[in-house]
Amino acid sequence: MTEIWANSADSHVLEPDDLWLQALPKSLAERAPRSERGDRFEVLYIDGGQVSRQLNDMMDAIRPPGARDLSVRLADLDKEGVWGQLAFPSMGFWSVLIQDRELAREVVRTWNDWAHSEIMGKTDRILTPACLSMANIDDAVAEVERVAELGFQAVFLPTQTREGEEYGLDRWEPVWTAAERAGLVLAFHIGTGGDTVVYRGPGGAVVNFVETTYPGMRVVSHMVAGGALDRHPGLKVLIAEGGASWLPAIADRMDEAYRQHGIFVRPKLSRLPSEIIREQVYASFQHDASAVDIVRSTGYRNVMWGDDYPHLEGTYGHTQETLRGLFEGVPDDIRDRITHGAFNELFTVPERVAP
Ligand code: MN
Repeated sequence: MTEIWANSADSHVLEPDDLWLQALPKSLAERAPRSERGDRFEVLYIDGGQVSRQLNDMMDAIRPPGARDLSVRLADLDKEGVWGQLAFPSMGFWSVLIQDRELAREVVRTWNDWAHSEIMGKTDRILTPACLSMANIDDAVAEVERVAELGFQAVFLPTQTREGEEYGLDRWEPVWTAAERAGLVLAFHIGTGGDTVVYRGPGGAVVNFVETTYPGMRVVSHMVAGGALDRHPGLKVLIAEGGASWLPAIADRMDEAYRQHGIFVRPKLSRLPSEIIREQVYASFQHDASAVDIVRSTGYRNVMWGDDYPHLEGTYGHTQETLRGLFEGVPDDIRDRITHGAFNELFTVPERVAP
């Protein structure tokens, strides 16, 4: 059976445990993201606080051979049928919670320099988005400009914001301007910027998984309705790992509000919300068959597949089975759009060289 090759718009790198310890002076390093393994839980410390706990079993389930070794990782990808990857951070995600200006600036700079030399300096098949300070906008803008010079193609932003810092607000305008000017994609990854366990009752594992989707939807509604994407038509937004079939649905909801509640709507936009979404908003999914259906049925085409390597939710070990299941009976042009076309609109990876 022929392999289906795909680029992945949602993967991760695992940083060395001592990344910040090695790079930063002790006073900063001891407040940088750090994980400690307890009896049942992995405890994460950052900026003097304890921010999350994950079950050890969850961490132990991350087992692709190349999770921590780039050359083995490329062999994993060849075996799975994945060519290019947009690889988000792992521990680096926690940098977005840092509120101390100096610590945030140095932690993200260290992460970006590591990704630049140890990942992108060694393969052009894996792109990492750069991390940005969420503590200070001037520092975020300076880092956007610095990483653009280094050759980054995207910046990572959390889907959850602190109250009063929602993405439709003017505070972000300098970041949007800098990213648009530099041609960097705004890559949001779900489950970041806040607690991912919000409910501990019946069905919690499923409820919490679904809950991670909603902040990604809010990113889109704020950035579209608040006018950011209308003011910056060159900006492209990716919501990674949150599924994609909700996008045409909220586009319809937003058009309805924009039209039916028009007397209350401000700012006015130069395009309908659904048009802005079709032109500037992309989403990636791993397993959802409905994400394929919407490309066939709604005309919303910014749908990208992702392997979520090396995570538990990912497709390692069953990538081909997943892709065959998703694309059985699906026209070639739609399969190609989801496996490559939308990805290649946002990111540049070299052409695949067949062995
Ligand atoms: Mn992911």
